[in-house]
Amino acid sequence: MASLEASPLDQRLEWDTPLFLMARAQFEQAVPHADVPDEIVERLSFPERAVIVSVPLRRDDGSIQVFPGYRVQHSTVLGPTKGGLRYDPEVSLGECAALATWMTWKCALLRLPYGGAKGGIRVDVRSLSRTELEKLTRRFTSELIREIGPHTDIPAPDMATNDQTMAWIMDTYSVQKGYVVPEVVTGKPISIGGSVFRREATGAGVVMVTDQACTRLGRTLPGQRCVVQGFGNVGGVAASELHDRGAIVVAVSDISGGLHNEAGLDVPELHAYVAEHGSLEGYDRCERITNEELLELPCDILVLAAREDQVTAANAAKVRASLVVEGANGPTTIEADAILADRGIPVVPDILANAGGVTVSYFEWVQDLGRLFWDREEIRRKLSDKMSDAFDRVYALADEKRITLRQAAMAAAIREVSGALEARGIYP
Ligand code: NAD
Repeated sequence: MASLEASPLDQRLEWDTPLFLMARAQFEQAVPHADVPDEIVERLSFPERAVIVSVPLRRDDGSIQVFPGYRVQHSTVLGPTKGGLRYDPEVSLGECAALATWMTWKCALLRLPYGGAKGGIRVDVRSLSRTELEKLTRRFTSELIREIGPHTDIPAPDMATNDQTMAWIMDTYSVQKGYVVPEVVTGKPISIGGSVFRREATGAGVVMVTDQACTRLGRTLPGQRCVVQGFGNVGGVAASELHDRGAIVVAVSDISGGLHNEAGLDVPELHAYVAEHGSLEGYDRCERITNEELLELPCDILVLAAREDQVTAANAAKVRASLVVEGANGPTTIEADAILADRGIPVVPDILANAGGVTVSYFEWVQDLGRLFWDREEIRRKLSDKMSDAFDRVYALADEKRITLRQAAMAAAIREVSGALEARGIYP
């Protein structure tokens, strides 16, 4: 039933790009296991709303350059939409639509009262000064002023955006409203209503479910040989958590390439190096490998924490990990997923594995709305409870239906949204 083909011509829509078709194919693969009515399936196959804006920026040299910006809101069935903003040269409507769709399933799976959204600007941040980045972010916020809000759509950081980006958005929104609205974004600095443990939450959540998966596979995390692709917010923290829990991180990579040491890398030293040099480029105290070689290293656990489309039909047969964990969104293509499943390699899917970020974002939003803040231990415990509850439900459904963890996670999420949509009805 699942197909990577575009909709028939009369239905073909602007977001029918390869990544969106992949998200839809995953949805179609899970639907038979979710037992939901056809009309609900039809409704949930499409994002509810998409906005394209053009964002003018006066460059430091006085010239004007216009950048395309996007925000896609997939579903408001369970609550306001929630999802990251990324600044990347490959951002497109279809990419945002796919990522917004995954956010709906992720929030539903974790039983958070949100639907999914995603957006961003098509820009290479390395080409901008800090002043330009701030001006671009503030103007983008103004362009989206009617779309975002604490009860409509709540952005968060994603690739190449961070707590500073969220602070500029929160400030611009607040100034335009005339009062302070910390709850319009999550992933803010703690000084303006951010939550403790938000920065670490995605990577820490990745390792929480990795630990649970190890237990189910009859292994223990300490001593597991791990490879981590991507050394940013997700991969960098995941590598540290793995290292701190006694796993052996034998390889990591970023856009500049990979580092490998069979005896285990010194992860704290790598963080110190990145803090000083901006990336892993030039680090020479171990063997340097390519990102392609990194994905094919023999290891116990491969954590994919860079970006989408990394394990594909071309390299899935060469993956030599015995467990794959998706810290990034959409890193395994549909074809690769089937190859890994045939080879008996379990994949802990993105909507489960990287849900720690949106879960602590939800805690941040709740704290902001209540103007009452929790400490690190409380947040870590609440996150661990949420992740392990979702993991157990996914594992039980996969067991019961004899399906992959991805199909089970998607089916469990679809059931949550479908139950709410059936109760609300399709207006009018
Ligand atoms: P980031 O920009 O902080 O880090 C991305 C890392 O991946 C960087 O080290 C970058 O150099 C590296 N990278 C990029 N392309 C690469 C390639 N082709 N090969 C190897 N490394 C490459 O971004 P992030 O926030 O860590 O996000 C990474 C992924 O996790 C994305 O798919 C994002 O959507 C997803 N995600 C992020 C969060 C979050 O809270 N930040 C939450 C859920 C999911």
